[in-house]
Amino acid sequence: MLKLIDIKKEYNTADIKVEALKGINLEFRDSEFVSILGPSGCGKTTLLNIIGGLDKYSSGDLVINQKSTKNYTDRDWDTYRNRSIGFVFQSYNLIMHQTILSNVELALTLSGIKKEERKQRAIEALKKVGLADHINKRPNQLSGGQMQRVAIARAIINDPEIILADEPTGALDTDTSVQIMEILKEISKDRLVIMVTHNPELAKQYSTRIINLLDGKIINDNNPYNYEKDKNKSTNQLSETNKGTKKNTSMSFWTALHLSINNLRTKKGRTFMTAFAGSIGIIGVALVLAISNGFNGYINTMQSETLSAYPVTVSTATIDYDKFNSFSLDNTATTTENNNEYVVVYDSVIQKYIQYGHYNNITQDFINTVNDFKQKDEQKPADEQALSLVQFSYFTPLKMVYIDAGDDDNYNLYATKNSISIFTGTSAGVFYQELDNEEFMMQQYDVIYTSSDYSPNDAYGLTLVVDEGNRISRSIMNALGIKLTPKSDGTYENITFENICAKEYKLIYNDDYYWFDSEDKTQTLKSTQQAELQALYEGTNPTLKITRVLRQKEDSQISLLNSGVMYTKELGELYRQNCKTSEIATKQAARKATQTDNYTFYAPLDLKISEFSGVLPPGGFKDTTSINDFLALRFNTRVNIEDAYQLAMQQIGISSTPQAILFYAKNFEGKKTIENLISNFNKTASNENQIIGSDSAQLITSTLGSIISIISYVLIAFASISLIVSSIMIGVITYTSVIERTKEIGVLRSLGARKKDVSRVFNAETAMIGALAGTIGVVVSFLLCVPISLIIKNLADINNIASLSIIHALILIAISTGLSLIAGLIPSRYAAKKDPVAALRSE
Ligand code: ADP
Ligand code: MG
Repeated sequence: MLKLIDIKKEYNTADIKVEALKGINLEFRDSEFVSILGPSGCGKTTLLNIIGGLDKYSSGDLVINQKSTKNYTDRDWDTYRNRSIGFVFQSYNLIMHQTILSNVELALTLSGIKKEERKQRAIEALKKVGLADHINKRPNQLSGGQMQRVAIARAIINDPEIILADEPTGALDTDTSVQIMEILKEISKDRLVIMVTHNPELAKQYSTRIINLLDGKIINDNNPYNYEKDKNKSTNQLSETNKGTKKNTSMSFWTALHLSINNLRTKKGRTFMTAFAGSIGIIGVALVLAISNGFNGYINTMQSETLSAYPVTVSTATIDYDKFNSFSLDNTATTTENNNEYVVVYDSVIQKYIQYGHYNNITQDFINTVNDFKQKDEQKPADEQALSLVQFSYFTPLKMVYIDAGDDDNYNLYATKNSISIFTGTSAGVFYQELDNEEFMMQQYDVIYTSSDYSPNDAYGLTLVVDEGNRISRSIMNALGIKLTPKSDGTYENITFENICAKEYKLIYNDDYYWFDSEDKTQTLKSTQQAELQALYEGTNPTLKITRVLRQKEDSQISLLNSGVMYTKELGELYRQNCKTSEIATKQAARKATQTDNYTFYAPLDLKISEFSGVLPPGGFKDTTSINDFLALRFNTRVNIEDAYQLAMQQIGISSTPQAILFYAKNFEGKKTIENLISNFNKTASNENQIIGSDSAQLITSTLGSIISIISYVLIAFASISLIVSSIMIGVITYTSVIERTKEIGVLRSLGARKKDVSRVFNAETAMIGALAGTIGVVVSFLLCVPISLIIKNLADINNIASLSIIHALILIAISTGLSLIAGLIPSRYAAKKDPVAALRSE
């Protein structure tokens, strides 16, 4: 039962206060057909809206079931509208993008009733209004009268106690109006129907009570009612909802999604275009991620497969890469613009390199550590081993004499110089000792030729190493004394392996090479001493010959060996052994024993240090680790006696410590193990015995990796801008959608939808557009990855460079959905806040 007590309604417009209702006192029976008549603008609609809980009264009270509504919350009003009220409007207010059935179901949908029941009840309601055959049509496929009947079906579906009809026949012809009135009269049998109309005839004919309104006041009521007086006549009551037990309306997420999907379906083209525009940002980010992902993958495999094959080198002379990396090679800090006064001094790159040089003191301690490790590693099963090979590299002053390539058949002298580079850590001569592990070497190289002299265990057989194109540089051929025939175009005639293998090299020892003059000063054999050279060549020393040729395998990615000539490990050991017993070695040792304060050594002349005078630097050499001092040790006099002696001995091939140790790891983990071995050793070693290993592969990849991540960040930042732009665009489009669907918002609210439900509908819509945009973006990116990979494969021969990971793809879809949702929040909140009355009035 419903009672209005002195209801007033004021509208505050910009300049004046409009008093739409000026104190309405009314009571209604639970079941009657009330018509409200009155001229336009007298407050009829306002009254209905207040009764229906769509609009709020300014003062007075609306009593529902003897309960005041003064303290009703929004939630209470929503529930009241959904359960107790059915609205019928002059302009039908059907939702155009939904079917008739969905329109009718809407109130039930909002109260969360199951689909089957909803459908059954909607069909029932449509039967009541005579429209059972049209359930799958859309509103715009119906006539006005049919649409109004749909609206009535929608109003009665929830079996509300009150139907409020605002000029339901206002837009209909007489015949159709009569049909509608019949329906309303029928449904008023067991409920309250309040109808606003302009047609007094229809009102008189169908309604049981007529109320005349004028200027916000009741001027006549032909059948008034008073509950207190007529109480026993009525037993009917309003639904449970309003008796205190609350069953709230709530739209499920799926309902919101369903409403949005239907709406988006009617605007397929626009939805797709929006999503596509939104996807461009996603495509940008996805491609950057895909490519940087691919590159990092490539670097990782390169690191583990290829670059791990490069050795970690501990060389006596090296560079401290940690310090080296942190200084800048940039010399542009001082500008000389308009400078006509002074010069700007800077360090050259080489000078800077030298500053960061480091002298590795390879102590017996370190060698023992390495050997221990090596032994333990070798005992492990093959697949757990860290190392393929540990190569100790000793300076071997191999010397030989052979007949030169020139026409005059001169004898030529070849003597290995000790020139180790701080950049490569190894001496790069023409002749060098083979790697200790033949099997390891043969993984990267093929034997492409063996001469008739070849025998597997021949210590004096040499091996020529050529590159993938069988090439060998001219300087190496010259050093080998092979005759070259220039051609007119500047290239040379090819030389057969057979010819090369025919050449003989006579080994000569320290005793053949060093001799002492009358003052006991060291002298060396000269290439001008042809008679001596001939005698040696024809003498009994061992003869060396190239007996096989190695070529790098096509699929091997690193050059393990330099182009040049390798001699056997046996020959190297024999030669160094011979050096130990040579006369110069004995004299050196004797001289050292007799030296007191002014040390003089027999030093190899070819090193330009004829005599060391042992003036000790303050603190001794070992305290200093800079390359300057290392070079000082080599080229001038600031050395202590022990170091000077060791150096001099090294020059003649006698050294207890290797010049370099090369660690060939099996894989990337193996490399890490070696690094750990060195750093663990450094923890226990004193300052001057710190070891720095160098790994050029590491240097390349770490720089490469960080460059790629920097580039990726920058590109992602750029791509993100388009992502933000597209999100804003989605926000704007949602806003337009809100404007377009204002009426729908009003209808939803009149049916009891909460503000939250309205914003949910729009959030579902933006989320869907965002998800669609993300999906399109990800799919397009996956497709684009194929041609991009192909192009890069062709350009750089790297496989699968663009590969978007599934996780990234999913994250991107989530980001796109999230961003769109955020962009749509403002418009959707705006929609939720819309005044339902104003929304229904809008066109
Ligand atoms: P009726 O339905 O009887 O034609 P209404 O109830 O729509 O009349 O309007 C009653 C009065 O209140 C009118 O003078 C109208 O201009 C005024 N009015 C209605 N709604 C508003 C509003 N939102 N703001 C200001 N004035 C309003
Ligand atoms: Mg009106």
